[in-house]
Amino acid sequence: MGVKHWWRRRRITRRPIPDSVWAGVTAQMPQLAGLDTTQLDRLRAVATLFLQDKVFHGVEGVVPAETRVAVAAHAGLMVMALDYDLLKGWTTVVMYDGGFSARHELVDEAGVVHTEDADLSGEAWEGGPLVLSREDVHASVTALDGYNLVVHELAHKLDMLNGDANGYPPLPPEMRASDWSAAFTGAFDDLGERERLGAPLPLDPYALENPAEFFAVASEAFFEVPRALRDAYPGVYECLRGYYRQDPLTRLG
Ligand SMILES: [Zn+2]
Repeated sequence: MGVKHWWRRRRITRRPIPDSVWAGVTAQMPQLAGLDTTQLDRLRAVATLFLQDKVFHGVEGVVPAETRVAVAAHAGLMVMALDYDLLKGWTTVVMYDGGFSARHELVDEAGVVHTEDADLSGEAWEGGPLVLSREDVHASVTALDGYNLVVHELAHKLDMLNGDANGYPPLPPEMRASDWSAAFTGAFDDLGERERLGAPLPLDPYALENPAEFFAVASEAFFEVPRALRDAYPGVYECLRGYYRQDPLTRLG
C-alpha cells in the first residue's frame, strides 16, 4: 500500500458517512443488489472520498445529506473496481430541485455562434461542474428502469478524461480500441435503423444524439437493465463489462 493509499484510508476513517444515512440510502438503491462485502466496502470508500472531495452547491437551498450520499454511492458503484483518480479534475456538483433550463453558446464549423436553450435534468462540463436535478436523482435511485441520471452524467465525466465527450473514454490496457469501436458503431447503426423502421428500441433513443450520448445511455442500461443490454447488444455489454471491471448481469440478471 503506497503513501497515497494510506492517506486515503486515513481520510475515509476520519470522516465516515454515518451508518444510519448510508444504510438508508443504499437500502433504496436496487442497483446495489447482489454486491459482495468486498465490493460494498470499496463502493463505500469511494463514496466517502467523493463526498470529501466534491462541493455540493444547492441552487435552491441546502442539498440534503441523503441526496449527496445517493450521488456519491453512484460514483462508488461506477468506479469501485477502477482507480479513484478517474473522479478527479473537477470539484462542484450543482443541484437544482427539479429540471432546469440552460442557455449555451455553440460555435459551429463555420465559426458562427449559435445560442441554444434547453430543458435539462443534468449536465456534465469538461473540467467543470456536474449539474443535476434532485428530483431526477431521486427517481433514478429508486427504480431499475434503465434510466439513471447520475450514471449518465458521470459516464460523460469518465468519457471526458481524454478530451471532449465522444463515446470513447480512456480504455484499460487489456482492452482493444478496435473492439470498442466495432461494438459501439454496430449498435449505434442498428439502433438508428430500428428507429427509422419504427421497430421496438432496446435503448432510449436519446442514445442516437451522438456517440457520447450512446455511451452514457448504454452505461445507464448496463447498471440498471444489464440483461436487456446484453441481449440487444452483447458486444457493447462486453465492452462495458471490461471497462467498468464488473458484471451487473451476474448480480441483477
Ligand atoms: Zn448526456
